[in-house]
Amino acid sequence: MEKVLSYLSEHQPRFVRELCDYVRFPSVSAQPQHQPDMAACAEWLLNRCRGLGLDARVCPTPGHPVVLARTPRRAGRRHFMVYGHYDVQPPEPFELWKSPPFEPRLEGRSLFARGASDNKGQHLAHLNAVEAYLRTGTELPCDLTFVVEGEEEVGSRHLADFLKTNRAELACDAVVVSDTGIPDLKHPALTYALRGITAVEIKLHGPSRDLHSGIYGGSVDNPAMALCQLLAKLRDKHGRIAIPGFYDDVAALSAFERKQLARLPFKESAYRKFLGVPQLFGERGFTPIEQRSARPTVEINGLTSGYQGEGSKTIVPAWASAKLTFRLVPDQQPKKIIALIRKHLASLCPPTVRMELKTGHGGEPYLVSPTSALAQASLRALKRAFGCEPVLMREGGSIPIVTEFKKVLGADTLLLGLALPDDNAHSPNEKFSLDCFERGMRMSAELWPELSGACKTP
Ligand SMILES: [Zn+2]
Repeated sequence: MEKVLSYLSEHQPRFVRELCDYVRFPSVSAQPQHQPDMAACAEWLLNRCRGLGLDARVCPTPGHPVVLARTPRRAGRRHFMVYGHYDVQPPEPFELWKSPPFEPRLEGRSLFARGASDNKGQHLAHLNAVEAYLRTGTELPCDLTFVVEGEEEVGSRHLADFLKTNRAELACDAVVVSDTGIPDLKHPALTYALRGITAVEIKLHGPSRDLHSGIYGGSVDNPAMALCQLLAKLRDKHGRIAIPGFYDDVAALSAFERKQLARLPFKESAYRKFLGVPQLFGERGFTPIEQRSARPTVEINGLTSGYQGEGSKTIVPAWASAKLTFRLVPDQQPKKIIALIRKHLASLCPPTVRMELKTGHGGEPYLVSPTSALAQASLRALKRAFGCEPVLMREGGSIPIVTEFKKVLGADTLLLGLALPDDNAHSPNEKFSLDCFERGMRMSAELWPELSGACKTP
């Protein structure tokens, strides 16, 4: 292990340069014009894997391809899968970036670029750890398969089918995913639960065209007004979602969990300041940490209607639309929740407009026991790599594919994220800490003997 760790230390400058190369690809999966960039980015990763001597290939899907890479196989060893994604969120709005999103900029120990933290830097850390094993002639204690997809940011549309098609090759003892966060460098974390998600887009149609508000206004309903009134009824003033049946399957937080979550470093005033809000808001009876990770929510992600240009335009708009997402917690099921949402919205919609409802991507919430042998093994690896006691936490975000790993491969997922809270994932000025990058590589190196050992004990 010493050889592996010193190899990692020695090669940090090159690893950073390679991460810079990787984040230069504008691999925005949501925007069709970036299709060639997606392909080029997958190709770069393929070559990086092959350069290490991995058996790697680009697997086409009906959407963006998956890059699959395997370490040399040896019979009788445990097999773990490392999952990541090379696609990134759209960088807009560009004007809020201090430097162009796809031109990496180093400032102190931070690397600024779209995708640096979510997720290129995080899965590259694992790949670099494998490089250290292979280049120092240190035998890996297990077989590893990297699965790096290109559609995580658009709901992993084709990964479930990919897993099913390649089930035999991907069957493994556990999946390791670094796509979550830690509170700070002194609190490395194993994330044992994720929230699920369900997305809907609601459109209210009014008149057949935008109307002169002076001539017609007052005699027809305004779809934008109707939409605002409808949306305002989805949540009460105490932060509770006002959809009948919505909380029926929510598993209550145990006393043990509340105690673990209370161990996390948190200062309300600093949090408020960091977010730039005059006051926090959340469901009554829960701490902010619980509200953002262990309780369900509804959010309006976007609102569109009428005239948005300069000056005024006196119209009754023809339509109004909103994009909504609901974050779900164990044991809420997206399908059941969608049905409740549909029924409730239909009951709220006035007869003066016509409602159109589109359901978007969805993912189930996830929970793995923090006391399992695998979880304990990963806590030991974290402790050695970061040099301090790790914490247990829940993540408010969603990685829908994690439930597919369980369903299709029968494998639990260990969420060993490397992002810091101020990494600005999905926001302008995304960055990745080079300290997290380096410690992530060490964690990955320490992880494989630990996990292989944990699998042997029943
Ligand atoms: Zn993301």
